[in-house]
Amino acid sequence: MSQTADEVLLMEDADRRARAYTAGIGARPVFPTADAVRNLVTFDEPLPDRGRDAAETLGLLDDYGTPATVETNGGRYFGFVTGATFPVAAAAERLVLAWDNAGLAHVTSPAAAKVEAVAARWVLDALHLPSTAGVGFTTSAGAGTLIAVAAARRALLRRHGWDVDEHGLTGAPQIRVVVSELGHVVITKALRVLGFGTAQIALARTDEFGRVDPAALPPIDDRTIVVLQAGEVNTGEFDPFAEIIPAARDAGAWVHVDGAFGLWARASAEHRHLTEGIDAADSWTVDGHKWLNTPYDSAMVILADRAQLAETMNSDAAYSSTSADSQKNLTLEFSRRPRGIAIWAALRTLGRDGVADLVERTTGLAAEIARGLDDSGYTVLNRVVINQIIATADTPEETARIAAAAQASGRTWFGTSVWRGEPVMRISVSSWRTTAADVDDLLDLLRGLKAASDRGVPATGRLAP
Ligand SMILES: *Cc1c(COP(=O)(O)O)cnc(C)c1O
Repeated sequence: MSQTADEVLLMEDADRRARAYTAGIGARPVFPTADAVRNLVTFDEPLPDRGRDAAETLGLLDDYGTPATVETNGGRYFGFVTGATFPVAAAAERLVLAWDNAGLAHVTSPAAAKVEAVAARWVLDALHLPSTAGVGFTTSAGAGTLIAVAAARRALLRRHGWDVDEHGLTGAPQIRVVVSELGHVVITKALRVLGFGTAQIALARTDEFGRVDPAALPPIDDRTIVVLQAGEVNTGEFDPFAEIIPAARDAGAWVHVDGAFGLWARASAEHRHLTEGIDAADSWTVDGHKWLNTPYDSAMVILADRAQLAETMNSDAAYSSTSADSQKNLTLEFSRRPRGIAIWAALRTLGRDGVADLVERTTGLAAEIARGLDDSGYTVLNRVVINQIIATADTPEETARIAAAAQASGRTWFGTSVWRGEPVMRISVSSWRTTAADVDDLLDLLRGLKAASDRGVPATGRLAP
């Protein structure tokens, strides 16, 4: 059946509502009001016996869902390390949804297979990684880590004459993992899911900046997977790749780099030095949904040896045998949204210069925030090498109080973390929409909260914008 009048109206309505949402960016509270959150009980209805009207369903989502969203697609959100979404990436997704093609292989969508293949080439180009590497467009850096570590273990075992595909892990040579003590929790999760116990994981000590200390590395040999990081989640720091990777690879280890957001620093000539030596690793993970500002469920796992990726993730079946380049053979998913298309759209519209500019501009704004905090009575704890800032007020209680007040103000949202045992405010400039004016407003807010706190006036909730 071709499109009905109802479908046209519904899609137009959805488009109108989506456009109204983006048009309202900057005008609504960054974190929803308590009323809006309370009103979410409206969704607590029983599964209807008989289907409800589609237009009314969309209306319900907009009327009660929209007011309770967090404005992450804006310029005043500095939470986690996630960015907004470029309009072209969102627009490409709109079209991809209309296609409803599974991006598993050429046979389900020649268009998706082609565009994702080009996106893969461009990602390697933008990140200055070997052009012969394999790229899987996966849901998250977490999923990418799972894939990379599975491939790493398989490869190391094979070098010891053990075919894990045939014999599994029982009786296999022991593989150990060396990971930064500041490694992201998804690494621990991926390792646990893959059957690594804490007894097989050695934590690598970090220096004052949060980088793995090469002088204090646990033993590394040809049964070791080393996991380093480009962009530590608090400080944004980079491990000393040029010192560690060649030695680890000489010892026969596999080196994986978690570059969820920080790997994009490589796209900028100004910041590439932070990642020096990173291209000699065996595998990398990087997100689109953070610094590249593509929609969520957008990440990449990259293996220098593309055949290893294709063999590890192979899912050919009698009814579905495809080429090693098929995304279903490079990712966990079989039926999958062709999530590389939004990345292609973003990269094509930005170009090499645009990606570099995004990295440099957000890093510049982060430096400005750090200077402003320093001038307002806060202590910035990191070097602000890229787009991350961690800072404290005078006491842990004051830090927590001011962070909570800022979150409740509706003018901004940033998170908190713990750095070396101390509660910190954690501010990340990852959104392409963030302007100098947004940064001024953030600093104005934090200056006011600190001054009020110094005068003994409890810092509370909403301030007039
Ligand atoms: C966000 C992040 C991850 C996890 O990425 P997901 O895409 O959310 O799974 C891993 N490592 C670092 C350094 C991160 O910032």
